Amino acid sequence: MSVKAVLRFVEHRIGRHPDSEVTVTARCLNPDCAWTVSPTADLAQADVDCMAHKGLTGHAIFARNFEDVAVVVPVEQNSAPSR
Ligand SMILES: [Zn+2]
Repeated sequence: MSVKAVLRFVEHRIGRHPDSEVTVTARCLNPDCAWTVSPTADLAQADVDCMAHKGLTGHAIFARNFEDVAVVVPVEQNSAPSR
């Protein structure tokens, strides 16, 4: 008696988890500055904070990191199988 494996491929998609939101952090890249924006979901406010920092210090270059939570789910098969 032999054992055979049955392999099938299931299409999946990836997207943002519905219970999550994008957050951003920012860090001034001036070598003599330690200014940062703490993680926030208010992306527009983070941009305003960076622009305000530029206005106060003249530092214009920032590293920004955007983060979300992703989820992978199988693609729904909406059509009936063909015969
Ligand atoms: Zn700075």
